This record gives sequence, C-alpha cells and structure tokens, in this order.
Amino acid sequence: MKRLATAGSLAAMGVFPFVVTSPYYLHLVVVVAIFSIVTVGLDIVFGYTGEVSVGHAALFGVGAYTVGVLAFQFGIGFPWAIPVSVVVALLFGALLALPALRVTGPYLAMVTIAFGTIVQILINEMTFLTDGPLGISLKKPLFVDLRDWGDTLAFLDMSLPRMRDVEFYYLIALSLVLVLVVINRLLASRYGRAFEALRESPIASDCMAVSVYSHKVLAFVLSAGFAGFAGALFAYSEQYIAPNNFGFELSIQFLLAVTMGGRKSRVGPILGTAIVVYLPNLLADIGQFRLVAGGIAVIAVVAGAIRMVRLPEERARTAIPVALCLGFFVFSLLLEKITDFKLTVFGLMILFMVYYLPDGIWGFVRQAVARMAPGLLSGPMATTAGNDADVWSVSTGAAESGRPLLEVDTVIMQFGGLRALDQVSLTVTPGTIHGLIGPNGSGKSTMMNVLTGIYVPTSGAVRFRGQEIQGRTAPQIAGTGIARTFQNVQLFGELTLLENIMVGLNHTFRGGVADVALGTGRARREEAAARLRAASLLRFVGLEALATEQARNLPYGKQRLLEIARALALNPRLLLLDEPAAGLTAPDIKELIEIIRRVREHGVTIVLIEHHMDVVMSLSDVVTVLDFGQKIAEGKPAEVQADPKVIAAYLGGGHAAAA
Ligand code: ADP
Ligand code: MG
Repeated sequence: MKRLATAGSLAAMGVFPFVVTSPYYLHLVVVVAIFSIVTVGLDIVFGYTGEVSVGHAALFGVGAYTVGVLAFQFGIGFPWAIPVSVVVALLFGALLALPALRVTGPYLAMVTIAFGTIVQILINEMTFLTDGPLGISLKKPLFVDLRDWGDTLAFLDMSLPRMRDVEFYYLIALSLVLVLVVINRLLASRYGRAFEALRESPIASDCMAVSVYSHKVLAFVLSAGFAGFAGALFAYSEQYIAPNNFGFELSIQFLLAVTMGGRKSRVGPILGTAIVVYLPNLLADIGQFRLVAGGIAVIAVVAGAIRMVRLPEERARTAIPVALCLGFFVFSLLLEKITDFKLTVFGLMILFMVYYLPDGIWGFVRQAVARMAPGLLSGPMATTAGNDADVWSVSTGAAESGRPLLEVDTVIMQFGGLRALDQVSLTVTPGTIHGLIGPNGSGKSTMMNVLTGIYVPTSGAVRFRGQEIQGRTAPQIAGTGIARTFQNVQLFGELTLLENIMVGLNHTFRGGVADVALGTGRARREEAAARLRAASLLRFVGLEALATEQARNLPYGKQRLLEIARALALNPRLLLLDEPAAGLTAPDIKELIEIIRRVREHGVTIVLIEHHMDVVMSLSDVVTVLDFGQKIAEGKPAEVQADPKVIAAYLGGGHAAAA
C-alpha cells in the first residue's frame, strides 16, 4: 500500500509539468517542494526530538546567501555552491545546538529566535559581502554544462544556456525525492529510534548509553543541513534574494506547516507546507476560498456522521467541530472582501487545528484509516526470534578473579539539608544477587541514581571493575556495562517493544550517519542483527508475541519485563533493578523471579531493590539495609531478617506503625 502510494506520487511529480503548463503553478510547486525540504528536516527536531526551533528560516537564509555571495562575489556556480551552502548551514547548526542543548528547557527556542534576528541584521549590515538590503540577483544554474565545474566564472557568462523552468522543476523534484529517501533511512535507523526515545524518556535514553545531548545536537545539525540545502535551491529558484525573505514569520510558517500537516511523518510536513504556501493565494480569491471551505464542510459532515454512528457517546463532542466547519463555510459565503480578513481566517484555522486536530491533518487521516482498515498503512513487521545464544551473544564476563565488581566507598549524597546517602559503603561480588532494602525514603533509589551517573555524589567514590566512575555521565557509565530499570517505569511509549529493545542495542552499531544515509551493506547488516537480537531478548522475557505493539499499550506487569529486556540489551555486567515487583500480580511476580534467576545464571551480577520481602529473601545472596541514608545492616538474608536494628527500622521508620 505504501509502495503504491509512493509510486503514484512519483508518477504524479513526473507528469505534472505536462499536465499543468502554467509557469505560475509550476513555480508554486517548486516553492512547495523547496520549503518541504525544510519542513521535513525540521520535523526531525520538532516532531521526533520534541525541541522547538524558531531559527529554521535563518538557516534557510544562510544556505541561500551562501549561494548568493559565492555567485555575486566570487562567480562560483551551482555545483560548488550547493555543497558549500550545506556545509555552512551544518556549521551554523552546530554552533547553535552545541551550547543551547546542553541544558534542557526552552533554550533552543530562545537561542534560535536570537539567531534569526542576528542573521537578518548581519545580512543587512554586511553590505560589502551581501549588498545589504538591496539583495542579490542571480541566474538559474547552467544546464548540463561542464564549464560550470571547471571555469568558475562561467557562472557569470549570461550568454550560456540556462536551465529552463521545467528542467529546474525536475532538478527540485529530484532533490526532494533524494532528501526524502535520506531522511526516511535516518528515521528508520538507530538514529530515528534514539530521537524518539530521548523525547519520551531522556533519563532512560541516557541510561541505555544513548546520549540525549549528542543525539539532540545531531538531530539539529542534520536538520540545519537540510534547511541550508533548501535555501540554496531557493536562491536559484527565485533568482533574487533579500534579507526580508528569511524573517521570523517564515520560521513560524515552517513550524505551522509541520504542526498542521502532522508531525512524525513525511506526508504531514509536505501537506502542511502546501497549505501554508497556497493559503495566501486562497485568501486572495473569494471564489476559490468558498470552494475549499465548502469542501472542508463536506468532509467534516461525512467524517462527523461516521464518527457519530460508530461512537454514539461522543456525539456531542463530535458535533462541535462539524458545526464549526459548517459555520466557516457560511462565513465564507457571507464574506465579500476576504483580503480584509486574511489574518483572522489564518488565526481561526490555527486555533481549530490545535484544538481538534492535535496530530495534524495527516495524523487525523492516519488514525481514521487505522480504525477502519487496520494494517493498511503500517503492515506489521515480521520478526523472527533467535535462541538464547543470540541474547547472550557477547560474553558477559562472569566472575572476574574474585575482585569485587562494584565498590561504593563512603558515599555521601546531599540534597540541600538532606543527606539521602550518609557515608554508605557497599561491595558487590561478581555473580551474586545483592539485595538492597530499607523503608521508603531510605535512599535506595538515590543509590541507584548515584551508581548510574544520574547524580554525582557529594563525596566518596564508586569503583566499577576497579575504575572510578563517579563524575562520569550516565551514557558513559552505561557504556561500561551497568544497566538499570526504574522504580517508575521509563519506557519509550510510542516505540514498539522491539524498537524499545533496539534502543538498548544502540551500542552494537558501528556504522555512522553516512552509512545509514547511503544505505550501505554494513548499515543493513547491523540493523538486521540488532532486530534478531531484540526479538530474542523479547522471547527471553516471554513478550515475543507483542513485538510490534507500542510499549504504552502493554499491561503494567509486562512493562516491567520489557524494561528488564531492554536493560539486558546493553549487555551489562551489572544489572540494577529498582523495585521490579512493585505493582505486579502474584503470577507476574513468579515469572519475574524466574527471569531474574535466569539472568544471574548467565553471569550477570544483580543489585535488587525490592519491597516484597519474599522476593528479596528468596533471591538474594547478600542483603544490605538502608535507613535514613545510612547502612544499618548487611549479611545473609536470614541474618538480616533477624537483626533487631532492621526490625526497628521497618517498624519505626517510614511505615505507619507508630500508632
Ligand atoms: P527510596 O529508598 O524510597 O528509594 P529515595 O532514594 O528515592 O528513597 O529518596 C531518599 C531521600 O532523598 C528522600 O527523602 C527523597 O525525598 C530524597 N531525594 C531523592 N532525590 C532527591 C532530589 N533529586 N532532590 C531532593 N531530594 C531528593
Ligand atoms: Mg525508591
């Protein structure tokens, strides 16, 4: 189905100039295609990683002005100007992203707003380079003339044959297709999975050795490169560029296009771009506007009617948007001079979209199709699981010469006036299950966060396999072989079970962005290997039947098992489990105990935090007890259980036994 649609779109693009001969519409489609390169690229940042960039028009302008300045000042033509403008945009992207994404929050949005302003001012002021507000005129690329490669000044020679509009159209169409292929590959790869994972749970990404920071930067830089490429094409398409082509409004329009069309898809941003580009025309022509408003009203009535029949209880809520669409149509009939209401109409549409189509038009269509004909848009990907050997394909390094695997040395973790960990020391022997218990708030999860680099201890040392790891970042520590699960399950909800685990397998990939973009053999082999291993891991925890299900649809107990499988994908020597049995039913707990035993049999050392005493006592070789951040007991399960200090802590501590 997808292939059919793709082939159809390609064919339509191919015949378009023969069907529509008006140069005006040809140019309009060229502009939509060029802007689409920006918006599809922007979607990587906005849709996938969830960061907002208000600077894409400026990056687009950087690309355009690189072409313009190269032509205007140095007479350098198309074949050289295009790659140079992409590189310049990539550099600017890195310049913005590296500092702005160090911290979370709205910083990228703020920095990109500033960048947009600065770029406009610079273009205006740097007259010696850009000719300031006068702008730069340039010619279409030469058509298949090798002189353009060799003799740089050929570019200025106006007598040489130039690309005609139709030829240029095909050049742009080809560029768009290439960009779509590359972006599709990137987003279907480990990079796309990482971008989504970090949006859904940054902490889990970092703890799966998928650095949130570097992947956010990568997403932004890639996106900037596409914007620069589009800008370069735009300069040739318009043959004239001026600073005010690349203002703040254009950035907003790019964001709007992605939101309106629908994030996290290729169709959505293109659709949104077409709407945003065409809207001014529509708003200038009352006849067309009425026609479109009528069309929307018809669609709304039909879709609304179907929904009301299917979901009678939603009738009232469905009626409102339908009525609004009808009202909009009536409004369009009453309007005489629409140009006066341009902005009002625009604003109303945005409000409607945000309120009733939060996933954009394409998101709405996709959901509707998925409800009526499941499996039409996304055929479930077949997966075959290997055997257990595939799960443990790399040696987990069982028992290393009796040395302790993990040493925690008088660690203090201070939060303001509170000592969550107060000089705690702990030694974990390889091959054991080490229980960590204590009343609520005694510092168990804090210990886990210190061990995985989420917190840097106030003082003290943590040594893993003889090396000090305190102060290293979470992804670095994960990379050395410490995996974990979370007390509050941290899955990547919109990814499938299989993809969740493949995020954990990110460390098994050697190929880089270029491999993925070019679709090399290595990239495909690594992807296939990861898929097989992920399926095997799913089988290990008994979830292989649900491989293509979204993680957020899993029942709670299964989510915890998936988290364990994902942690195992890291090929850890040490696995930290934070209350894995919390909220589980009795049969689920039995399954969990069985899985933990099997993990240990494969040589993985485990630290187990748990409130279910039977689970801890039956599994653990050693148990450490924390109370108010201090270690109060340690030893064999039976000894600890009989320790009066432990009993007192549990009775007098956080529990309600004071009464
Ligand atoms: P538990 O043993 O129940 O897992 P925690 O380690 O979650 O306990 O918490 C130990 C203490 O540290 C609690 O009093 C908690 O409020 C406090 N704490 C944990 N994390 C933070 C933080 N990031 N900032 C301030 N206080 C914290
Ligand atoms: Mg806890």
